[in-house]
Amino acid sequence: MALLHTRRLLAAPRLAAAAARASSWWSHVEMGPPDPILGVTEAFKRDTNSKKMNLGVGAYRDDNGKPYVLNCVRKYVTVQGISGTGSLRIGANFLQRFFKSSRDVYLPKPSWGNHTPIFRDAGMQLQAYRYYDPKTCSLDFSGAMDDISKIPEKSIILLHACAHNPTGVDPRQEQWKELAAMVKKRNLLVYFDMAYQGFASGDINRDAWAVRYFIEQGINVVLSQSYAKNMGLYGERAGAFTVICSDAEEAKRVESQLKILIRPMYSNPPLNGARIASIILNTPDLRKEWLVEVKGMADRIISMRTQLVSNLKKEGSSHNWQHITDQIGMFCFTGLKPEQVERLIKEFSIYMTKDGRISVAGVTSGNVGYLAHAIHQVTK
Ligand code: PMP
Repeated sequence: MALLHTRRLLAAPRLAAAAARASSWWSHVEMGPPDPILGVTEAFKRDTNSKKMNLGVGAYRDDNGKPYVLNCVRKYVTVQGISGTGSLRIGANFLQRFFKSSRDVYLPKPSWGNHTPIFRDAGMQLQAYRYYDPKTCSLDFSGAMDDISKIPEKSIILLHACAHNPTGVDPRQEQWKELAAMVKKRNLLVYFDMAYQGFASGDINRDAWAVRYFIEQGINVVLSQSYAKNMGLYGERAGAFTVICSDAEEAKRVESQLKILIRPMYSNPPLNGARIASIILNTPDLRKEWLVEVKGMADRIISMRTQLVSNLKKEGSSHNWQHITDQIGMFCFTGLKPEQVERLIKEFSIYMTKDGRISVAGVTSGNVGYLAHAIHQVTK
């Protein structure tokens, strides 16, 4: 009886709340579409096949398919930041407020799927330049140069600093030089996104080459960085947004405005991840250990590319898979068609995004044979 009474007491305010919600101001808010990458993980989790593989999400895994906590991170107890996405968004809002000559941001075709909403939500307009040639599974350099030569002066161009996501295709150094000359001629502001420093070559300096070269050439550059992948700090959200200024006084003014932008967004960044990153970068022994571990992660990915191609050959595949080893970084644009991806998911429980991108970090010496077999089955 007492229980019933209590239930009634609880039910009355609940009904009142429900009535209030019926006239909600948010009833017009439609259900958003599922995220194309995170949706793959949802489907993977539901699958009960013991051989299932998740090649959708670009998070580094060791050769046992387990998340990898780097030793140099393990030695410190924690601190936190806001990663590549948050840094890109600060940059986008900064450009919206202070880049007076244009609203247009030119993205490579294709680019990381989140670039569009990040810049659009900050009030910028998205344009595109050719980047990837699906016929050769490699860089469409002449297309890119041609499109960039036509970008109106004083616009913004976004460049992936290394390990382009989703294609795994980067310009070579001579091509970067030609791109820099063209960007300078068009007087463009370059927005570098560097989310995978170290993952392309295994060497953080080599992977930062393009950014440094552009700055040396006197090109105006802003930069977003993520420490999520190269320090294994995914959940810590450690990142940075940088504006290269002409002198210290300008830097002070820009810094003051960045603070004003950030204050109403989230006031202050969390400390944990940023402190880990800073300790690793500034402690000589840890820095050395980190560089070895970054190389270890990059090398494992490179070796999985080679093993995938040799296993495909062993399966008897007659296709040219050279792009798998030519491409670099965490991702590989396999060239698989949406219907082939569909078959991989349905028949083999191998999950990836519809565009045929696989995260090579999800491949191990234990499952590379199964992957090659499955790819051969759907492409022969
Ligand atoms: N830029 C690119 C090109 C990315 O691939 C990613 C992560 N997938 C990010 C930025 C964002 O990184 P974070 O996870 O650190 O927010």
